Amino acid sequence: MMPPGAQGRNFLLSMRRLSFNSGSTGEAAATLVRAALLALALCAACPAAARAGCFPVSDSAYVSLDSLVDKNARQALAAVASRLDASGGAGPAPDSRQLAVLYAVQADAYSILELDHEARAAAARGLALVNGPTDPLRLELLSTVALNIYTQEGIREAIGSIEAARAMQPEDSLRWLCLGITLGTLERRAGENALATRTLTRAYHDSETPARAEAHSEAAIELSSALRGVGDFAESLTLVREKIAWDEAHGDSLALSVSNYLEGEDLNAMRDFRGAIATFERARNISASLGDTQGIAFADMRICQGLVELGRYRAALPRCNSAIRVFTASNSTDVLKQTQEYLAEIDLQAGRPQQALGILDRVLDHAGTDMDANTVGIGYRTRAQAHAALHHYRRAYLDLAEYLRRYRAANLARRLRLQATVKERFLAEEEIARNAVLQHQLEVTRERATRQTQTLRWVAAAGTAGALVIALLSYILITNLRYRRQLVQLATEDNLTGMPNRGRTVQLATAALEAAAAQNRPLTIAIMDLDHFKTINDRCGHATGDHVLREFARVSRGSLRSADILGRWGGEEFLLILPDTTLDAALASVERLRVLALAIRVPCAGEEAPLRVTFSAGLATTADGARSLDEIIARADAALYEAKNEGRDLVRIDRESYQTASTGVRRALHLR
Ligand code: GH3
Ligand code: MG
Ligand code: MG
Repeated sequence: MMPPGAQGRNFLLSMRRLSFNSGSTGEAAATLVRAALLALALCAACPAAARAGCFPVSDSAYVSLDSLVDKNARQALAAVASRLDASGGAGPAPDSRQLAVLYAVQADAYSILELDHEARAAAARGLALVNGPTDPLRLELLSTVALNIYTQEGIREAIGSIEAARAMQPEDSLRWLCLGITLGTLERRAGENALATRTLTRAYHDSETPARAEAHSEAAIELSSALRGVGDFAESLTLVREKIAWDEAHGDSLALSVSNYLEGEDLNAMRDFRGAIATFERARNISASLGDTQGIAFADMRICQGLVELGRYRAALPRCNSAIRVFTASNSTDVLKQTQEYLAEIDLQAGRPQQALGILDRVLDHAGTDMDANTVGIGYRTRAQAHAALHHYRRAYLDLAEYLRRYRAANLARRLRLQATVKERFLAEEEIARNAVLQHQLEVTRERATRQTQTLRWVAAAGTAGALVIALLSYILITNLRYRRQLVQLATEDNLTGMPNRGRTVQLATAALEAAAAQNRPLTIAIMDLDHFKTINDRCGHATGDHVLREFARVSRGSLRSADILGRWGGEEFLLILPDTTLDAALASVERLRVLALAIRVPCAGEEAPLRVTFSAGLATTADGARSLDEIIARADAALYEAKNEGRDLVRIDRESYQTASTGVRRALHLR
C-alpha cells in the first residue's frame, strides 16, 4: 500500500493504529489473517505519537531531521542516508552517538512509510549504540521497535522490554508515564483491553498537569481506543474530544482529521448518525486540505454508512462509490469490503437485490476473515435480505443464522470485554482516588506538622524573646528601682546615721506643721546640739565622733513615737518634730533622750573612762500649728543658744512658748 500524497504521516496509518485491536474479532483464524494483513499496513504514526512531548532527545541533528520526518519521510530518509555515507567518504565520520541519532530518525521515517521491518531494524541498530537506561534516545528507540511489531508473539515480547525499561524510571517521571502509554498501546493491540484500560487510565490521570498536557492527550486518545474496542463509546467519545481540543489548540491537522474521524465513529456507534455525518464531514474537509485521499475516502465511507442508516440512499451512493474507488486503488481490502456492504444495502433498498447479492458474494468470499469482525455480520444480514427478496429462502435462512451467530458471539465477547474493562477501569480509578486521598492526607499531615513546628518555633521564639524582654525590663525596672531608691536615699537620708537629712527633715517638718494647722493641733519642735563635740573629735578621733553620732541616732529612734520625726539638722545638731505634742509632753520626750544620751558608752582611745554624751536643746511650740517652720525653728534656735549660754546639758524654751508653758514646766525648767 502506498502512502498518500507527499507528506510523511498519513491518515490511514494513524487511524488504523488507533483502531487496531487484535482481539476484536474473537476468532483466532481471523486474527491471524488480520495480523498478517495489517503487518505491512498498520502502525505508525505511533513512534511520532510516543515521541510527542515524551522522550525529549536534545541532540541537534535529531531535532532538525525529526521535524523533516514529519514533513516528508522520504526526504528525511535520503538526508539520513547521505550522512551515513559520509562516514565512509569525505566528511568527518559520525561518532556512535550521532549514528544512534541517525538510526532513530531513520526508524521513525520507515515506520511512517509503513516499512515496519526496516523501522525495527534501524531502531535496533540505534539501540546497540545507546546504553543509558534513562537516556531519552534509548527510550525513543525502544518505543519505535515495540510499536512497529505486529505479531502477537512479538507484541508480548515488546511488552516485556517496555516493562523492563519502565521499571528503571522513577515512578513520577515523564519517562515512566510515557512508557506507560506505550505499554497500554501494546496491551490493547495484544487484545488485553482490560489491562490496557488500567494502564492507560493510570497514565491518563498521572499526566493531569499542565506540563504533561501533550502526553495527557496521547493517553486520552489511546484510552479512548481501548474503550471503543470494548464498546464503551460514551467514555471513548469524551476522551477523543479531549484529544480534538489539544489538536485544535496545536494546529496538528493530520491528527485533527484522525481524532475527528474517531469522534464520528463513536457517534455512529451511539446511533447519532446526524452528528456522526457532521463530524465525518469535518474530518473529510481537513483531509481534503491536506490532499489526503485516504482520509477523504475513510470519511466518505462513514458518511455513506450514516446516510444509509438514515434511509438517504440516493445521497449515500456517490459517497460509497468514491470511497470504493480509492480503496480499490490502494488495495485496502477490509475497508473496501466494508464500503461494498453499504453499497449492497443501497442496491437492495433501490430494488436491485441481484446486484446486491453479486456484491455481497464477493465481500463474503473468505467468510469475512479478511474483514473487520464488526462489519462481517452486517454483510450476512444484508445478503439474507437479498436472498429473501429473490425468494431464496433457504439461503436467506442460512445467512440470517450466520449473522445471528456472529452477532451473539461478537456481542458476548464485547460484553465480557466491556465487563472486564469496566472493572479494571473502576479498580484503576479507585486506586487513583485512594492514592489521591492518601496523598492528600499525607500532605495535610505534613502541612499540619509544619504548621505546628512553625507555631512552636514562633511560640519558642516569642517565649524566648518575651522572657528576654521581661528579664530585661525587670532588670531595668529593678535596677531603676534600686537606683531610684538609692538616689532617693542619697537625696533624703543621712548616710552616717540613717536619719532623714536636713532637706528631708524640712519636708517632713513642713508636712507635719501643715497637718497640725489643718487639724488645729499643737506641735512642738526641739533642736538638739551635742555638747563640746569638737573636743570629742579632737580627743578621741573623728571615727569615735561618728560612732557617737550613730549611737545617739540609734538610741533616740528607739525612744520616740512613730509619728515623731528626728532628722539630722547639721554636724552634731538634730531636729526633733513632735506632732500633736504640747510643751509638757515635749519636755518629757527630750528628757528621755537626755537620759539615753548619758547612757551611751563609747570608748575613747587612750582614755579609760568612756565618753559622756550630753546635748543642749531649744524648744519652741505652736498651740495651733499656725506658724511658719522658719519662725518656729528660729525661736527654737534662740532657746538653744540660751541653753548653751547657760552652761550646756540644758533644755530651754523660747520666750513666746514660755508664756504658754504650764506651771509644772516652768518649775521643771527652773529646777534644772
Ligand atoms: P558646743 O558645746 O558649743 O556645741 O561646742 P562644740 O564643739 O560641740 O561645737 P562646735 O560648733 O564648735 O564644733 C562642732 C564640731 O562637730 C565641729 C565638727 O568637726 C564636728 N562635727 C560636725 N559633723 C561631724 C561628723 O559628722 N562627725 C564627727 N566626728 N564630727 C563632726
Ligand atoms: Mg553645733
Ligand atoms: Mg555642739
